[in-house]
Amino acid sequence: MDFAMNTDQTANHPNRESKNFKQFSGDYLKKIGVGFLSLLNGMGLTMSYLLDPRKVVTQQYPENRDTLQMMARFRGGVVMVHDDDNNHRCTGCTLCERACPNGSISVLNTKNMAGKKILGQYIYRLSQCTFCNLCIEACPFGAISMGKDFELASYDRQQLTLILNKKKGDGS
Ligand code: SF4
Ligand code: SF4
Repeated sequence: MDFAMNTDQTANHPNRESKNFKQFSGDYLKKIGVGFLSLLNGMGLTMSYLLDPRKVVTQQYPENRDTLQMMARFRGGVVMVHDDDNNHRCTGCTLCERACPNGSISVLNTKNMAGKKILGQYIYRLSQCTFCNLCIEACPFGAISMGKDFELASYDRQQLTLILNKKKGDGS
């Protein structure tokens, strides 16, 4: 009982209260100083961009649509790589289809005149693709990659189901 009374008396001692107030004031003033320095730092950065606009990294979109270069690791949907003669490397092995976790890819194979299995249609459902890249990693032939298109929205869902092995310029 005596011990409890002594403790309360110490906590309310005027010297103790004065010390707490000094510590609080010191912390408060320190935070004001840090905030002020941070403000000066930000203003200095803004001023440096004003004096040297080459440093500015913000891009003006859509004004720069024709010249915009997307980052190397940007994932804008699956595309099938075609060479200059519009040939692709897909063998129809279906490894990408099996790697896709949500069924965004359907590889429909057919046979050529010699009876050999070849790719018929490579169907890619952009509307459900999560851009996870698993199909790209699964392909042993580098036949598909992530595209750089970034304006992918459409009012028509059917336009988001794509035949990737369709040749460029083929409207069918
Ligand atoms: S990126 Fe992912 S979700 Fe999209 S098709 Fe490939 S595996 Fe499927
Ligand atoms: S894209 Fe690659 S993994 Fe997919 S079916 Fe073609 S060759 Fe096989």
